[in-house]
Amino acid sequence: MAAAGFAGEAPTQHDLVIIGAGFSGLYMLHRARDLLGLDAVVFEAGAGVGGTWYWNRYPGARCDSESYYYSYSFSEELEQEWEWTSKYPAQPEILRYLEHVADRFDLRRNIRFDSRVESAVLDEDTLRWTVRTDGGEEVSAQFLVSAVGCLSAANVPDIPGLDQFDGEWFHTGRWPHDGVDFGGKRVGLIGTGSTGIQAAPVIAAEAAHLTVFQRTPNYTVPARNAPLTPERAAEIKATYPAIREHARNSYGGFPFDPSGRSALEVTQDERRATYEALWEEGGFKFLFGSFYDLLVSEEANDTAAEFIRGKIREVVADPQVAEILAPRDHPYGSKRPPIDTNYFETFNRSNVSLVDLRATPIEEITAEGVRTTAAEHSLDMIVFATGFDAMTGALLRMDIRGRDGRSLREKWAAGPRTYLGLQVAGFPNLFTITGPGSPSVLSNMPVSIEQHVEWIADCITHLRSSGAAGIEATPEAEEAWVEHVAEIAGLTLFSKASSWYLGANIPGKTRVFMPYVGGVATYRQRCDEVAAQGYEGFAISA
Ligand code: NAP
Repeated sequence: MAAAGFAGEAPTQHDLVIIGAGFSGLYMLHRARDLLGLDAVVFEAGAGVGGTWYWNRYPGARCDSESYYYSYSFSEELEQEWEWTSKYPAQPEILRYLEHVADRFDLRRNIRFDSRVESAVLDEDTLRWTVRTDGGEEVSAQFLVSAVGCLSAANVPDIPGLDQFDGEWFHTGRWPHDGVDFGGKRVGLIGTGSTGIQAAPVIAAEAAHLTVFQRTPNYTVPARNAPLTPERAAEIKATYPAIREHARNSYGGFPFDPSGRSALEVTQDERRATYEALWEEGGFKFLFGSFYDLLVSEEANDTAAEFIRGKIREVVADPQVAEILAPRDHPYGSKRPPIDTNYFETFNRSNVSLVDLRATPIEEITAEGVRTTAAEHSLDMIVFATGFDAMTGALLRMDIRGRDGRSLREKWAAGPRTYLGLQVAGFPNLFTITGPGSPSVLSNMPVSIEQHVEWIADCITHLRSSGAAGIEATPEAEEAWVEHVAEIAGLTLFSKASSWYLGANIPGKTRVFMPYVGGVATYRQRCDEVAAQGYEGFAISA
């Protein structure tokens, strides 16, 4: 690979620039370089590969999808040789897997680490992108692929006084590589999303005291993690092609079928037995495998929500604490449902306390800890499990400028607008892997990532074989897709929660439901049809 140009030098020329070396960027690089023969360069802000799994090293970090399908399917050798140790792999294991992929396919030689992309500017005459990093490197490429991830721009809330806190504080998505010692510490954990729910039991087991600051109570279902037995691993490997096919043609990218039953068409006893069995089995099947109407009918949803509240009352010894933990303000699944290991049980420990921020909001962070309207909580350490500026944050932190010098920030000021979540009108030759408007975060990510990478690679092959200089979503196709994404989201209960799916977790962010709820299979079919019809809805420039 040619060296990148630095300020003052002419930018080095490439076919393709990829931003990010996580699940998406690694596969995009392999596909583009090794199958298409493109000259590709990857810029990665971290010092290593892994993306989400590089940054999120907080205690308890673990995948909520099972290892055998939360993995690449593109290489039969890779899937046969890699040994997963558990049903839900922990962060270090997934990171090792991605490092193995980087080595196995010799990807590192095209990746520039510690290089954060600051800007990408289109040259309208050539339809090439000039990409500049924080280290002053400048390269030019015909195609630009964003593989920045949907949950990578960490959100540290603007709580007054953080700078005067005498203790240490961390965001879970930027966790120190050499770990954090909680021994003897009074730790405050702010946030009870998937991350906080994974971290709380682990921190509680190590810390002198853990105070959980909860704004919105969350529904969570046990994961029931377990080691992957050699017999189960062998069975998976023997049936991989069918498993992958199933996942690709499913609603959520998971290799299991949604239930065909309504929660309202069965008797109360049958419903309870279904929920009990899935609670015992653990994982996302509780939502996807129980009844098909939990995300579309409030009445159906109430049955699941009440079942989970009943479980909280069973598990949590103190009825007052159980009541604070019981969610009532949004339907189950309308926020991304976490799965957990001993989350509710953690509140039975003598060294754990719960603060209800709805009743007593945080007023400020002081030198000693967190002060709410009711009390000052003395702390040695604060852990922010406060999530991300999801789906658009990482893209908009870069200064991306398309036609007429217009920035993506301006274009998306009222919410993200894309065609198929793959392209943005006015930004030719820029592709967004798992961008807003695609199933992305509502699906098992590797399945959606592979579909996007392969679609983009096929599209580039098509352009190059026809000698075309570029491709760009038309404003009409984009408008129709944005309307379609909003329309079908409106048929669900997703709008009933203040979730990051809607941007509601970031003050001032426009509320627009960002992912596509139509499902992985339907979406894949639409993308394939578009390509088969000569890239319908895209303008191809000669
Ligand atoms: P999140 O779901 O956005 O949760 C953030 C939490 O912080 C919420 O409880 C939120 O309360 C709270 N919060 C935010 N700002 C606050 C403030 N100013 N004061 C008090 N509380 C505040 O973030 P996350 O838990 O990091 O998860 C993000 C996503 O990452 C997940 O939904 C999931 O898609 C992914 N994830 C996946 C895994 C996995 O597969 N293993 C693990 C972790 C995360 P409100 O609810 O009131 O806003």
